[in-house]
Amino acid sequence: MKSVPEAQKIVAAAVPVPTPERVPLAELTGRVLAEPILAPFPRPRYTDSAMDGFAVRTADLARADGQNPVALRLVGVTAAGAREPGVVGHGECRQVMTGAAIPEGADAVVKVEDTSGFDKEPVQVYHAPQVGENMRQAGEEIPAGELLLTPGTRFGPGELGILAGCGLDTASVYLRPPVALITTGNELVRPGEPLSPGMIYNSNLPVLRTLAELAGATIISAETVPDDQQAQRDSVAQALEQAKLLMVSGGVSMGRFDHVREVLRSQGIREQFWRVAQKPGKPLYFGTGPDTLVFGLPGNPVSAFICFMEFIWPTLERLQGLAPRPQLQGTLSAPYPREQKLWRFLLGEAWVQAGRLMVRPSGKRGSHMFTTTLKANCILSVSPGEGPLEEGAEISVRLLPWTLLPGEA
Ligand code: AMP
Ligand code: MG
Repeated sequence: MKSVPEAQKIVAAAVPVPTPERVPLAELTGRVLAEPILAPFPRPRYTDSAMDGFAVRTADLARADGQNPVALRLVGVTAAGAREPGVVGHGECRQVMTGAAIPEGADAVVKVEDTSGFDKEPVQVYHAPQVGENMRQAGEEIPAGELLLTPGTRFGPGELGILAGCGLDTASVYLRPPVALITTGNELVRPGEPLSPGMIYNSNLPVLRTLAELAGATIISAETVPDDQQAQRDSVAQALEQAKLLMVSGGVSMGRFDHVREVLRSQGIREQFWRVAQKPGKPLYFGTGPDTLVFGLPGNPVSAFICFMEFIWPTLERLQGLAPRPQLQGTLSAPYPREQKLWRFLLGEAWVQAGRLMVRPSGKRGSHMFTTTLKANCILSVSPGEGPLEEGAEISVRLLPWTLLPGEA
């Protein structure tokens, strides 16, 4: 039996180099960049006006103030997008709108609020500007050639704006890992169908599918098969054709009808480990095929959920070229159970109080009690040890990335 850190290391070492593909701008949200993006030109590209107002020569306006305006002759208008910025000579001014290139000869912009307005001539200016006032200098934000986005960056609104601002309408990003899901069990019934005695609804299928999608995967198949070797072999063989990652739920424990390990072996999957010193999730299985990473998850819904978050989520991140997010440390507001020989995971609640990350484990602790996920926003974990951790002790926290961290609770 492997320890949790050993098992996590084995999985991390088995992840292949991620594959890049070119994707259009409109489909980049959430994708992970596979190439560096350098500024193709300085930003701003040309010196322009930061305000709607008048381009002026500061030397003309040294004596202007609220009581003594200086009159300037209006020589034209430069709108944003104008091809020619125009020229401003001594005693002259030119209307310029925000984003318009600064006319030749001008060295400042007076905003329209500090003048007699756009409709009057000559223009009375009530303010003596500094050189460069209300101007945005070419290259003041970014010089040409600067590294703007590094490989491994995930596209959010900011990254999309930077890419578009560079004039790029595609980017090379890592493939969303194609994932296959097989849930096993004679007792499983699809939601919406009637239940007969001894049967339960298949809840792992939607949970695992959604978790994989939240982690950035593309689900290529999601099936349910009975505890039948032939049916499982067929389903696994089909999944292995295209999936980079296969998750099988159920059928990996010690039961008489738990065939998944044997089935995977028969399909050429090399077992890397089976059983991890953890609670819940001891029967966790991991194997590798030529092109596929295979996880066998225990069927108990909480075990499957926690095993996914601890082992598969970071794997899907690595498969997309992302560095898995670091764990945090939180302070326990209640005692936390420890096991002598097993790593102990529990779903928990985390919140911020007086600037500290506080946590407590959920009340219901059975690995079949899926209601514990409802308020949970983190997974807490502690290495094996004697006796419970006391209130006030520090503990490892893995925030569930799609949840929010509340304030005072
Ligand atoms: P197993 O890992 O196959 O021994 O299953 C352990 C427990 O999880 C049993 O009580 C199963 O009925 C339950 N279980 C297995 N698969 C699912 C599933 N897809 N949805 C909900 N419960 C499941
Ligand atoms: Mg089963």
